[in-house]
Amino acid sequence: MSLIVAKFGGTSVASPERIQMVAKRLIAKRQAGDQVVAVVSAMGKTTDELIGLAAAVNDNPPAREMDRLLSTGEQVSMTLLAMAIESKGYKAMSFTGRQAGIETDGMHAKAKIIKVHNERIMDALNRGYIPVVAGFQGIDPNGDMTTLGRGGSDTTAVAVAWGIGADVCEIYSDVDGVYTADPRVCPRAKKLDAISYDDMLELSAAGAGVLQMRAVEFARKWGVVIHSRSAFSDAEGTYIKEDPAMEEAVITGIAHDTSEVKITLRQVPDMTGVAAKLFSGLAADMVSVDMIIQNISEDGFTDISFTCPKADLDRARNTLERIVPELNAREYVVDTNIAKVSLVGTGMKSSPGVAALAFSTLGENNINILAISTSPIRLSVVVEQSQATEAVRCLHHAFGLDSDSIFEETQLSAEEIAAKMAKGR
Ligand code: ADP
Ligand code: ASP
Ligand code: MG
Repeated sequence: MSLIVAKFGGTSVASPERIQMVAKRLIAKRQAGDQVVAVVSAMGKTTDELIGLAAAVNDNPPAREMDRLLSTGEQVSMTLLAMAIESKGYKAMSFTGRQAGIETDGMHAKAKIIKVHNERIMDALNRGYIPVVAGFQGIDPNGDMTTLGRGGSDTTAVAVAWGIGADVCEIYSDVDGVYTADPRVCPRAKKLDAISYDDMLELSAAGAGVLQMRAVEFARKWGVVIHSRSAFSDAEGTYIKEDPAMEEAVITGIAHDTSEVKITLRQVPDMTGVAAKLFSGLAADMVSVDMIIQNISEDGFTDISFTCPKADLDRARNTLERIVPELNAREYVVDTNIAKVSLVGTGMKSSPGVAALAFSTLGENNINILAISTSPIRLSVVVEQSQATEAVRCLHHAFGLDSDSIFEETQLSAEEIAAKMAKGR
């Protein structure tokens, strides 16, 4: 008998029919003799719709109210799933983040889990219920609702798995595992059977949306085994775990990220202390700077560029309106049409030549590199957004990651996926 946490994302609970399918899957686990706790996301695009509603009444909604609003999405799906399970003759009980004992800090919209109290979930399990937990939410020390950042239900699932000592944390989504690149962008991407925490963490950080970075961080810290798998089939997915025997591939995968912008300060006087002033100002205004590029100076002037999340752009503009005149720079320009493409692999640190092959491949494909950054296990380039797909595909090919078969799911429409669900595969 195993103790399993099973998390279902927005696509998997997007309609009453799909919720019924999830209920069937959970019941099948119980029939096979396993104990199971479900964690759910909000139905379909509910979270985006709630964000839209908030924006329609306030340009800058208060963070506390926003978290309260967004947490309602998961509360709809958790109750419907519990009802669906009950309709099939099994006992189920839904829990909000607070009821499930998810205690967080007070950083609204990106709260960190600081404690998990497992009593109520354990009690429900012991009394024969299938507990259904609302993902993405917790409670701060003031008793206010918090949310864990977009994609945060993955983190709830891992935290609950750790809290109850589950054998595995299964994350069900519309892909059947972690691929060498986003299969929707790179049809020749290959599914990985297993991936180390370090490689997965770097892929998630570089934009691979299949697992939230926080979830992987939490799992690595506490040794929770994650199984990323399909909500539409029983096929084995990808295990994320620590395995010293695991082969260290030079390149494990390629991620892309279109959530950043590039900002360039033109004609900045090339003097000591300029960069310190600029980046201290941005830090004080809570702008998360990612890449930094300083051009060679000419006639005592230089250009400085940096990238940061789109979500921080308004704050960055505020800082720059103040600092650009102070630095006597000519102006700043914002480029929102960029994408970051990252090669990730723990084996990279002992393999020279990765950058050379990456740059020559991009060059041969007429893809201009706008910025570069590296770590021992990652190489990232910024390119024009319109060239991101091509960049992922040509790098995937050049580094020998291409599969012989094409990821067929990319061809499926939403209706076809729903039909597959209905057939229960
Ligand atoms: P959920 O809503 O269930 O949490 P997500 O949309 O967050 O699901 O995650 C699944 C999506 O992640 C897939 O549809 C896929 O397009 C995307 N994705 C990005 N990178 C990868 C990757 N390397 N492997 C698999 N899927 C990926
Ligand atoms: N519903 C939240 C989101 O859309 C959390 C999640 O799905 O994991 O980001
Ligand atoms: Mg997700």
